[in-house]
Amino acid sequence: MTDPELIARILGGLTGVVGVAVCLGYGLWRFLALALSAAWAAFRTEPPGGNDPRITPYTGPEPARPAYWSGQMWLDARFAGQAAALTVRYLLTRHWLGLVVRRRLLQGRNGQTGELAANGFGRLLLRLLAPGTALAALLSALLASVLLAGVALFFAVELALVALAALAAVLAGRAAERLWKLALGIRMKCPYPGCYRPFPLAVHLCPGCGAAHRELRPGAFGALRHVCRCGKALPSTLMTGRRGLAARCPHCDRNLPPAVGTTRVVHLPLIGGTSAGKTMLLAAMLDGLRSWSHESGLTVEYASPDDLREANTLGQSLNRTGWALKTQGGQPRALMLLVGHGRRRRLLYLYDPMGESFRDADTTRGQGYLAHADGVLLVTDVLAAPVVRRALHAGDTERAEAARPADLGPVETYAGFTGELQGLGGRRGRLPVATVVTKRDALDRLDSLPRPAEPVEAWLAEIGLDELVRALGHDFAAARYWVVSARAATGAGALDSERRRAAEPVLWLLSRTGLRVGGLVRDRPDAQARRDTRARRDTEGAQDVRDVQDAQVGHGEERSNTP
Ligand SMILES: [Zn+2]
Ligand SMILES: [Zn+2]
Repeated sequence: MTDPELIARILGGLTGVVGVAVCLGYGLWRFLALALSAAWAAFRTEPPGGNDPRITPYTGPEPARPAYWSGQMWLDARFAGQAAALTVRYLLTRHWLGLVVRRRLLQGRNGQTGELAANGFGRLLLRLLAPGTALAALLSALLASVLLAGVALFFAVELALVALAALAAVLAGRAAERLWKLALGIRMKCPYPGCYRPFPLAVHLCPGCGAAHRELRPGAFGALRHVCRCGKALPSTLMTGRRGLAARCPHCDRNLPPAVGTTRVVHLPLIGGTSAGKTMLLAAMLDGLRSWSHESGLTVEYASPDDLREANTLGQSLNRTGWALKTQGGQPRALMLLVGHGRRRRLLYLYDPMGESFRDADTTRGQGYLAHADGVLLVTDVLAAPVVRRALHAGDTERAEAARPADLGPVETYAGFTGELQGLGGRRGRLPVATVVTKRDALDRLDSLPRPAEPVEAWLAEIGLDELVRALGHDFAAARYWVVSARAATGAGALDSERRRAAEPVLWLLSRTGLRVGGLVRDRPDAQARRDTRARRDTEGAQDVRDVQDAQVGHGEERSNTP
């Protein structure tokens, strides 16, 4: 064995020992500590609102910040990984190899301080340490990279778990809301003309800045709450308080009543010819509902300040002129009332379209709300029926004229709209119809006609409108009849009994949607009178009797076409 070979072996062994010792004793830990602290600093972005350049502001249409887990968290994780990798590379190439090894040890300078060794032996020793130190740096970088990769993997799994938990909360929140709406039968629909469209989620306004949130539900902007761009936290589910926010229709951007997302909506259109007394009846119904609310457990309130204003305007016009103004415009805005009994509530949309709306198929089709009607209030002015007019004697014709009869007979009005209701919703056979004969005060003054009496359907048949009664009974799931004097039910000196009678059709239709107000309708004070009429009619023609019995299956119970 020659000397140079031995020296090379000793130097090689020494280099290996120095490399491993420096790596395990110092280098590796230094690499790990610096890389991890750099990663941690990169992950911890500035708090929201700061001007950290790593936060890319969300520029989409929703005025909310995306939830941390849905975006920024992954960006931060990437920044952290990059920072760790860059740190390892910098330490290896610039610090250890570049500075410590090349510019210090190989020049005979102290690796730590950069001081030149005092003598030649010292400088030689430092130069001999250089290969070992370079080896230590390489080993440290390699081992640190492997360990850091492990940490990164562990961290990625943690983040994925966080995201999964958030996603689960989102799904649970959405499912809970859907179930809740299903259980309560809530289907949101716009009450405004030209729209009347259904929507799954209303636009909610931030109470802080008024920004319109179109996506305020569990999702990428947050599971249980969204943070508005103004910094205010908004509840994102019905159960956590979203119902308290002002809402708008996503299609037409008009204000919705606060109860629209929490209460089942019942759509009831008043159908009748021009001047059939629809608007008067509507006013009488509002008064009647209020009267019931004083007498029973019924609660009635206007769904929004607009509705209160509209009802007041209607009442004032009636008080001043004795007549309701003719309904204007092509399509009506629904008058919205919150009607409750016990723990249940319904948001009642009452549509009062102008009579001309049902003249032909085209204009009827424009009445889009018919598609989701829950029942029909058929307003019938029998004085407009040709068969009734023909039966009037001399003096009665003038009296009938003074009552401003409708332009279209009840049979024609019904024929005009009924096909469309079928076409629009395809579900007429499942709907109830409440037929209200109006202008009872005028009818009472006519000598040529029998006085209106219970049961109204029998009286209608008697004056020649049996065709209408038969058609209604056949076409709808259930039909009931009332005769009302809206004049006696509204304005100064209104009769409480007449008021309440005017509201009965609405209560009956509401009771068909599960609101327990059927009892109010059934306890009618005139039940005795009805029984008398029935007894009297039993002695009359067989067909009539059948009609009456047909229409009276179970007192107060509607007959049903559906098995
Ligand atoms: Zn805001
Ligand atoms: Zn709308």
